[in-house]
Amino acid sequence: LKYQTPVSSKPRYVRVNTLKMDIESAMHELGKATTVMKDDLVPDMLVVPTRTDLHDHPLVMNGSVFLQGKASSMVAVALCPKPGWQVLDACAAPGNKTAHLAALMRGRGKIIACELNEERVKVLGTSITKSGAHNIIHGDFLNLDAKDPKFSKVRAILLDPSCSGSGISAERLDNLLPSYSQDDIDAANSQRVKKLAAFQRKALVHALSFPVVERVVYSTCSIHQTENEDVIKSVLPFAASLNFELATPFPQWPHRGIPVFEGSEHLLRTDPTEDMEGFFIALFVRKRVKKKIIR
Ligand code: SAM
Repeated sequence: LKYQTPVSSKPRYVRVNTLKMDIESAMHELGKATTVMKDDLVPDMLVVPTRTDLHDHPLVMNGSVFLQGKASSMVAVALCPKPGWQVLDACAAPGNKTAHLAALMRGRGKIIACELNEERVKVLGTSITKSGAHNIIHGDFLNLDAKDPKFSKVRAILLDPSCSGSGISAERLDNLLPSYSQDDIDAANSQRVKKLAAFQRKALVHALSFPVVERVVYSTCSIHQTENEDVIKSVLPFAASLNFELATPFPQWPHRGIPVFEGSEHLLRTDPTEDMEGFFIALFVRKRVKKKIIR
């Protein structure tokens, strides 16, 4: 397995929160501190030089811009929620993608953000207050009743479940288990990834089960096929039974899924050896069923 190049060699990305500031004003303000360019692919994304540290910048502190990577920012754009829609962010903390959804929806509509972990719910609350999003559910996404009337208008679901993080962290399990052999470490890694994949699959099936959902994005920051293509492949028959098919997020993006099934070219991968993190995105879209008009 290849792991990413050191973070320090990558450019830094900044996502402008268009609910609070327009992109030209953000460029102007950040330009006082560093060189700023627009990203050529992701809307509202700015690129700043490698070593720029903007953590304490006033625009970061007040939520006008988010220090969110380019690959991570491609996820909400792939979901493409419309202003006025009801949208569910299934595994939401720390809330970067929730805030991004709110901006894409121009603050109109409703976002329900679900998070299991109590501590992380607090962080989610802070991001949401900064961004202008709303409606947090502290609970297990798997336990949400898809048939509950409160979800009867959910048209899009962003599912970014817990994953191994192998596209981001250069640290391997070796550091945690220094006295074990490489075989033991690989076995432990593979057990963990399998367990994660079982949860990811369950969560994806659940997301596809919401009654009027039209678009579901599944994303991970993992490079493992087990958490990515294999999860998608395993749900395809179920998805097809509900009229979902894979669509192609960012069709101009050259790096697609590992070709382990027909249709994997719809999937999107970013490479941790490029100037980004290792992300995976799959987009399911429900086909419209033509209603027969009976005269
Ligand atoms: N989407 C987030 C963002 O962009 O800021 C990152 C999400 S992180 C990869 C996965 C999150 O899912 C974690 O905060 C984890 O606590 C939460 N989670 C894990 N299992 C869950 C479940 N069954 N229901 C709801 N949230 C869950």
